[in-house]
Amino acid sequence: RWAGRQTSGDSPPATFNLDTCRLSSTQCSTLNSLHLRGHLSFHNTTEAARDWGRIKRLAPAGVLYPESVDDIVSLVRTAGLSRNLTVAAKGRGHSINGQAQALDGIVIEMSTLGGIKVMPQGDADCQVPYVDAAGGELWIDVLKATLKEGLAPRSWTDYLYLSVGGTLSNAGISGQTFRYGPEISNVLQLEVVTGSHMWCSYQGELVICSPSKQPELFFAVLGGLGQFGIIITARIILERAPQQVRWIRAIYTDFQSFRRDQEMLISQTDMTKVFDYVEGFVIINSDNPYNGWKSVPFSPEHINNSMIPKDAGSVMYYIELMKGFDFINIHVTEQKVEKMLSSLNYIRSLRFTTDVSYFQFLNRIHDVELSLSSQGLWDVPHPWLNLFIPRSSISVFDSQVFKQLISRDFSGPILIYPINQDKWDKHASAVIPEERVFYLVALLRNALPSSGPGLKSQMDDNSKILRICHDLNCKQYFPTYNTPKQWEQHFGSRWQNFIRLKKMFDPHAILSPGQNIFCRNQ
Ligand code: FAD
Repeated sequence: RWAGRQTSGDSPPATFNLDTCRLSSTQCSTLNSLHLRGHLSFHNTTEAARDWGRIKRLAPAGVLYPESVDDIVSLVRTAGLSRNLTVAAKGRGHSINGQAQALDGIVIEMSTLGGIKVMPQGDADCQVPYVDAAGGELWIDVLKATLKEGLAPRSWTDYLYLSVGGTLSNAGISGQTFRYGPEISNVLQLEVVTGSHMWCSYQGELVICSPSKQPELFFAVLGGLGQFGIIITARIILERAPQQVRWIRAIYTDFQSFRRDQEMLISQTDMTKVFDYVEGFVIINSDNPYNGWKSVPFSPEHINNSMIPKDAGSVMYYIELMKGFDFINIHVTEQKVEKMLSSLNYIRSLRFTTDVSYFQFLNRIHDVELSLSSQGLWDVPHPWLNLFIPRSSISVFDSQVFKQLISRDFSGPILIYPINQDKWDKHASAVIPEERVFYLVALLRNALPSSGPGLKSQMDDNSKILRICHDLNCKQYFPTYNTPKQWEQHFGSRWQNFIRLKKMFDPHAILSPGQNIFCRNQ
């Protein structure tokens, strides 16, 4: 399956009903004359104006459904020659604040340009197993394709129905990040359509880049919020996949024990003692099936109120761990895991363990999706807040936010886990705190239509938390800002370089306008 490499060749010009095009008549007729293998649509733009957040709705003028790289190159060049046309690549539209939207611009629906090619032995250029995945492919499909060869990427997100291009434009993090770095640290090569090509005067060019070939473009694009180019293909490093995993959750009531154990787990240098995945969660001290103590065991009947320590506060914590193994090694793994757990300080009666296939583990959030969807609770507004918090500030954050602002009606999970900074390539665009260890804190709230605090009140809470964060040197993951000054503060000492790279690879600010960083210019 490799649609991405086809070219438009002698495709007929895109013909659409010009009456549906609300751009200027010149722009409409230019777009109408593009030779496309796929097609451009100027009606039915509702989906492209919607995202996971359900907070912003910026209607594009049209949507491109590309079926070749040339379709994308042609569109970007045409946009570059226009006065004000912008272009946003859209993966799955799982952003929160309109980042993949383009008001009066063109959204590229990247899912129509598929392609996954697994190279189990690598090749002459690259002697490790890898997969070439189109930017619009979902990680779930990358996993399915690579598992057929007994292989899998090393670094993941918790949820796999996200696009390769969309996550690599941010970072892509999960419980493997402490060990292998984010998804952006596991990319060998990219094929990118730039907003402009630095050696040519025309707009839009397909460029192959890697740490040794066009490295500035390569690192700019990784974590670059879609500002420098459209990811057509990413070459991702693979490793052997285990058949099965031991999956453990262990509850704590004391924050300091919880964080000390997490930090010990991610700092292990003896590879025989390292878990393959380490995450943590804050839970509400209630029987809420989604974020209370009932959500921790793999079967909710394995916990009840009488098992919760009387001195537990309004919130508790749990560590989630995973160790992969093959069936043949099950007994050795069992012993090893028990030994690794023995030094942890969780509440001994509140540990839960299960064994599942590697696929089931990586795809674990899909079950939650199915359950919430069936109750009409999946497609609701999501005022999510994702933060990177320096290790030195995490205890203050716990006491000021988790212990004070999180109330029983908080709806949604709260993630908290430490990450090693040295696993991030400092050349990539992603912005992280300047400390050796920092925490991901994700407050993943749903604004339910019928109950709990409404969207406005939840967004006000987020503003309060962001004010606390300001003094704690935190960074937003999936940043949302409204002014250049705020963006400058976000990037800190890297801001001038970000601007320089923008001038180099997308000087007219055509790409990803929904990030709200740069204004389209001529
Ligand atoms: P989109 O929202 O479509 O796009 C995001 C940005 O990237 C936009 O600016 C867009 O223009 C740009 N873009 C999209 N495709 C391309 C491309 N091919 N080339 C260049 N730019 C492009 N993130 C994590 O890191 N870890 C998690 O565990 C995690 N879990 C999640 C769980 C759920 C249920 C959801 C909804 C999101 C989760 N995310 C997680 C967030 C996710 O990584 C972001 O939403 C990310 O933007 C990917 O979503 P997407 O593929 O839909 O991208």
